[in-house]
This record gives sequence, structure tokens and C-alpha cells, in this order.
Amino acid sequence: MPNPKRKHTPQRRDKRRSQNWKLEVKSLSACGQCGALRLPHRVCPSCGFYNGKIEVAPKAAKTEEGKEKK
Ligand SMILES: [Zn+2]
Repeated sequence: MPNPKRKHTPQRRDKRRSQNWKLEVKSLSACGQCGALRLPHRVCPSCGFYNGKIEVAPKAAKTEEGKEKK
């Protein structure tokens, strides 16, 4: 079995371990309807708008509907 000849330095070890901690959303586009930031190819979280029409009822409207039923 091939083995590493030398122990890796703490700097090298820490550099390797620090590769995975960056979690950032790189692309956010503005919603065409309300202008809120949303992920591309996703329904807008604030108004439920996608592809020129309302695909999903926004959360605020859903709660209002629930109140009306009660
Ligand atoms: Zn929107």
C-alpha cells in the first residue's frame, strides 16, 4: 500500500477542511412581478409568480383564505 511520506502540515490540513464551509447563493434574480429576489427557475416566494402567471398562491393569500373559511 502506498503511504504518504510526510505528515501534512496543519496549514495544509486546515486549508483542505475549509473548502466546504462556504455556502452562498450566487445567482439571485429579481421577480418580474413584485421585484423581490428569487432563485432563477423557481416560483417567487413572495408572490407565487412564475412564467407570466400566478402558479402558486402566495403565503399571505393562503392565510387570508384560511381565515375566511373559519
Ligand atoms: Zn414576486
